[in-house]
Amino acid sequence: MERFIRSDQYHFIKNQAHNLLNGHMTTNDASVTQALQSITNEKVLDLFTDLSSEQEQLIAQASDVKDETDAILYFSRLKQYVVPFPKLSEADIQRLFPKVKKLRVPAIPDEEWAELSYIGWNDPAANRKYLITTVDGQLTGLYGHYKPLQQKSICSLCHEHEKVGMFTATFKGEEETISRGNYICHDSKKCNENIQSREHLESFIKRMKA
Ligand SMILES: [Zn+2]
Repeated sequence: MERFIRSDQYHFIKNQAHNLLNGHMTTNDASVTQALQSITNEKVLDLFTDLSSEQEQLIAQASDVKDETDAILYFSRLKQYVVPFPKLSEADIQRLFPKVKKLRVPAIPDEEWAELSYIGWNDPAANRKYLITTVDGQLTGLYGHYKPLQQKSICSLCHEHEKVGMFTATFKGEEETISRGNYICHDSKKCNENIQSREHLESFIKRMKA
């Protein structure tokens, strides 16, 4: 079976399985856990269209998770079918930011690529944050001024309450220069783990560039 799960879908399935696991741990009422199981099953299968029977079987196993051991085994199996973020070399990344000189590109460990909906890193020396993701299937780079905030707030990318900073991108409008700012997670690895749908991510990038 080929890889067919996106990172955001993987995190969504993990989250659903965790909710189910919590249900199993907090109640012994079989009718409650059965109801939770069928909700889990419905939600995870709803993410996909046109699954083969083998793929459907793998996804539906989310509703069989009953304890931590099941969860660990299932998640590691699931991860084998996640399509990783396209591997980019330093030169590839540099090409996405033609205007930036002395770009500091982060090293991303091999096992993390499957967990990424976007690549994001901070350059504190330059007060910048860089983001790379696909928008409508096209690799897109965006960078902006970045100022960490002292308290937690809602991130525009993952919509979770996290440690964030103000990200401001500046671009040329028809007549004048336009700047737009939004809070986004300080820790992009954590943010990626929170992303259970690409919707906010892609619309954020579009909004910041046009
Ligand atoms: Zn976030």
